[in-house]
Amino acid sequence: MRRTRWFVWLVVVVAMVGAACGEADDPTTATGGDDNEAGSTTAAPTFDAGTTMARIQQKGEITVGVKYDQPGFGQQDPATGEVEGFDVEIAKLIAVAILGGDVDSVEDKIEFVESVSKNREPFIQDGRVDIVVATYTINDTRKQVIDFAGPYFVAKQDIMVRKDDTSIKAVDDLNGKKVCTAKGSTSEKNIRAKAPRADVLLFDGYDECKEALVDERVVAVSTDNTILAGYVDRSPDELKLVDNPFSDEPYGIGLKKGDEAFRDFLNDRLEEIFEGGQWGDAFESTLGQLGLETPDTPTLDRYGAAGGATTSTTGTGGTGGAGGSGSTSTTGASSTSSSTG
Ligand code: GLU
Repeated sequence: MRRTRWFVWLVVVVAMVGAACGEADDPTTATGGDDNEAGSTTAAPTFDAGTTMARIQQKGEITVGVKYDQPGFGQQDPATGEVEGFDVEIAKLIAVAILGGDVDSVEDKIEFVESVSKNREPFIQDGRVDIVVATYTINDTRKQVIDFAGPYFVAKQDIMVRKDDTSIKAVDDLNGKKVCTAKGSTSEKNIRAKAPRADVLLFDGYDECKEALVDERVVAVSTDNTILAGYVDRSPDELKLVDNPFSDEPYGIGLKKGDEAFRDFLNDRLEEIFEGGQWGDAFESTLGQLGLETPDTPTLDRYGAAGGATTSTTGTGGTGGAGGSGSTSTTGASSTSSSTG
């Protein structure tokens, strides 16, 4: 009898401790203002009237340009229509700071819009999107028409070839060969500068380039190493990375030119998620799944309001963007010239 009572008490105490732990882990019970842990909620702050943040709050939704065809960064699941990747996670973390809630609930308040490389500046300029988070390299050419917060990541341009290819080891080797990249990308500009005799095939997106490589219409695809890593991860028996990078590609969040209050807000939020660990969590749950190690957080470039000043972190800036010369594909796949890159 005595033994039985002792056992009942033990069960009660264990149940109480368990309930208390469960409560602490429950995201819905987290208090507003602390969103440093994944799943925790934050209250929507109050912004000065007339700011972009206040306008977004008023419409109850943020519109974000992302890629739909880039594994690891922005990829649409054809079955559900949902987009996922590191850029998508960054967009959610920005949205939480404006609209409140948590990274899961805020999804309902984000309108994702597919942005290919060449339409990122126009989408920002004509107000189609509030921000672009789409493997978007910060450079001085682009800063003439839009502004950037960040960088929130620094990639490097590299080359992807078929698994059995041993002829391409560096960017010079692309001279005289067919290589594919996207219209309006810095990748095109860099290939034209570093392998001027390459025969460049241009498409709107990198998926089409990957198909062209598999079908042997080109011998290589060149763009940021992290984008290529996503394709190699999906087809390791068919594709490989040359792994000889030849540029720095600091990724920024694109926003309307001259909106200094919004740019400061975005940079402050990036700093907050760098320091609070959400940036690292976002990396691990997306690019980390492709085997990429979480890098150090980059140094933000809070450049002056004039916009065009050369920045310390933009390795490819200042020499004109991709397609700035109005170049077109020499293989006939592309009939339109690229926008500014
Ligand atoms: N990061 C480069 C760019 O912004 C290449 C990747 C892309 O096209 O998004 O142009």
